[in-house]
Amino acid sequence: TDSSDLFGALFEAPAGTRTVPVLVPMPAPKPYSYSVPDGMAVEPGSVVQVPLGPRQVIGVVWDGGEDGVDPRKLRPITHVFDCPPLSKEMREFIDWVAAYTLSPPGLVARMALRAPNAFEPEPMAEGLRFVGGEPERMTPARARVLDTASDGISWTRTGLAHAAGVSTSVVDGLICQGLFETIFLPPPPVVAKPDPDFAPSRLKGPQKDAAEEILSEVRKGEFAVSLIDGVTGSGKTEVYFEAIAETLRRGKQVLILLPEIALTASFLERFQDRFGAKPAEWHSDLAPRMREKVWRQAVTGEVRVVAGARSALFLPFEDLGLIIIDEEHDPAYKQEDRVYYNARDMAVVRGRIGNFPVVLVSATPSVESQVNGQNGRYSTIHLPTRFGDAALPDLHLVDMRRHAPKREGFLSPVLIRAIGKTVEKGEQALLFLNRRGYAPLTLCRVCGHRFQCPQCSSWLVEHRFRSQLQCHQCGHTERTPEACPECGTLDHLVACGPGVERIAEEVERHFPDARTIVLSSDIMGGVKRLRLELEAIAKGEADIVIGTQLVAKGHNFPLMTLVGIVDADLGLANGDPRAAERTFQLLSQVTGRAGRTGLKSHGLLQTYQPQHPVMQAIVSGDASAFYEREIAERERASLPPFGRLASIIVSAETRHDAENHARGMRSAAPQVSGISILGPAEAPLALVRGRYRFRLLVHGRRSSDMQAFLRSMLAQAPKERGSVHVQLDIDPQSF
Ligand code: ADP
Ligand code: ZN
Repeated sequence: TDSSDLFGALFEAPAGTRTVPVLVPMPAPKPYSYSVPDGMAVEPGSVVQVPLGPRQVIGVVWDGGEDGVDPRKLRPITHVFDCPPLSKEMREFIDWVAAYTLSPPGLVARMALRAPNAFEPEPMAEGLRFVGGEPERMTPARARVLDTASDGISWTRTGLAHAAGVSTSVVDGLICQGLFETIFLPPPPVVAKPDPDFAPSRLKGPQKDAAEEILSEVRKGEFAVSLIDGVTGSGKTEVYFEAIAETLRRGKQVLILLPEIALTASFLERFQDRFGAKPAEWHSDLAPRMREKVWRQAVTGEVRVVAGARSALFLPFEDLGLIIIDEEHDPAYKQEDRVYYNARDMAVVRGRIGNFPVVLVSATPSVESQVNGQNGRYSTIHLPTRFGDAALPDLHLVDMRRHAPKREGFLSPVLIRAIGKTVEKGEQALLFLNRRGYAPLTLCRVCGHRFQCPQCSSWLVEHRFRSQLQCHQCGHTERTPEACPECGTLDHLVACGPGVERIAEEVERHFPDARTIVLSSDIMGGVKRLRLELEAIAKGEADIVIGTQLVAKGHNFPLMTLVGIVDADLGLANGDPRAAERTFQLLSQVTGRAGRTGLKSHGLLQTYQPQHPVMQAIVSGDASAFYEREIAERERASLPPFGRLASIIVSAETRHDAENHARGMRSAAPQVSGISILGPAEAPLALVRGRYRFRLLVHGRRSSDMQAFLRSMLAQAPKERGSVHVQLDIDPQSF
């Protein structure tokens, strides 16, 4: 272990004569002051180690000068890490996000300092280089070594021995005789550098105009937001690849945000085809060592392009020049943990602070981005048709009021026939149902008992493959019992409604010979296994795929020509004003998996509400009327982006404490014109992990200063006592 940690804690360096503010990765409202030992060089942005209570933590020297406290009364900084300081831009960004989300800046900074071991440079490997000459005595083994090393490349000792097929002692013998000099090899890059001119741009027709528009922004190198609004398969990726190429030529780094990066191996390969090297990946499934490397090389500038999940936005790049946000409408960009933020919105802020262009990409842009397009804040670029001879699938509604299966099951005869035809032709069908497990509800036919999670207000979902009942809120599991726990009757438990496992059972009954794959996050073997399954599907090794939204995102399955939506109404059921938009986006994305390579393709959507505007918009292929209505509706109700919203969730171990505290907050809140508070009411998830939850919704006009209001509301709120916890969510996903 590193002895400096130990000594740092035991004998602190004498305090210097100067103090600096240091932001530590804690939920503290502002930086703490530390003294700078004489002779230690720090500047704003320096990454340092400081004592905090009994511990040593990593922090960042922040802006703002001396605070007037006598440096002798402060504890000194222990250590300055040998890494480039966080840029002024990055510090400003962290402060901005903290102020906007009302989060402690230390918690935001922690997201930028994710990999504590990454701060010390990797030790350089010792290498060998052949300097020439002859050994005292030549042997066949020695000859092989010299032959291998004669090309002038540097080798490690073991690497050379291995390549020459000899033991390391042979190499050592030659080193002793002075035939090699020892040199230091820099650590290998995590990925090779992408080359903007590796493969020529191949844009055609409308893609060219689209790219030209974005390229003009990239060449200016200033802040501007472009929205590429193009149907699935229109070639949006190819278009933004050109923006990436131009940014690389200008010597800047690029960040690509993707909602399901861990599953998009095909994206990385496509990138490699264009740029000759893969981008560095950044997501939670990355091994810790790799994470440290990517972090360090993003900071030093060795990594030129990162493709990552939302947390990549907080990587302190050396010189970032472009952010792409693919599938910008995707709910996965919202983080709801500690610091609540939407990575799409914060990416735009980062572009503004860093003064570089940002490109949003979607087949179904969010209402927020569309409105920003209409009012000229973003420039919108349309790609209304698929690339080449690929056509969008032919979409039809199946009215389940008339076409539901006669006896049991969830697949209409129309859909079953369509699956049969597809499989006969050697093509693939996708059945989409956004519900994991076998059945969302289990009840006793005799007494009516329903299985509910003991800690949450949600039903237990049956997972028949594992003989378990599972809570999808908290992960609670129990074995599926044979008798009802209420009345004791045996064998009268019934599964209500379908999950993907149940659909798979039905499919196997109809098509016993078809190769069927069920894909959901329950898959054994995690992300690795998922990637393999996705590859297998792309290679045509499955006939029927049954999946949740995991299969909806970004994949290219060349043989897929039929998409069946088992329950198109599923997402519309809750009372959320965003439900229609979300459902439209998800259904467009899923049906967009079909027919991407020119084969004629179909989509069948099973619905009990064929007249619903979402269903009409999907089958007509005309999204504009649907969006216009949604936008008008939001404007009328002054909902985002026309008004501002914040949600305050008050939770506690008892219902009474939660509700009481929420009421107290409401009555203590200041009166400000243009801002109103709704509730408290039970939160959409009223009980989670044994905690009762109440919600206050704060609604403000577009012009109101929501953050200032919330700050004073929190300041005047009653103290959080006992188990009470208050969580603020700016721009909540559901409202
Ligand atoms: P989107 O991102 O809009 O869904 P993609 O960029 O994935 O669309 O393009 C859809 C398909 O068309 C892909 O298979 C892609 O390789 C192909 N494609 C797009 N543009 C071109 C082009 N200019 N030349 C050749 N193939 C292209
Ligand atoms: Zn639960």
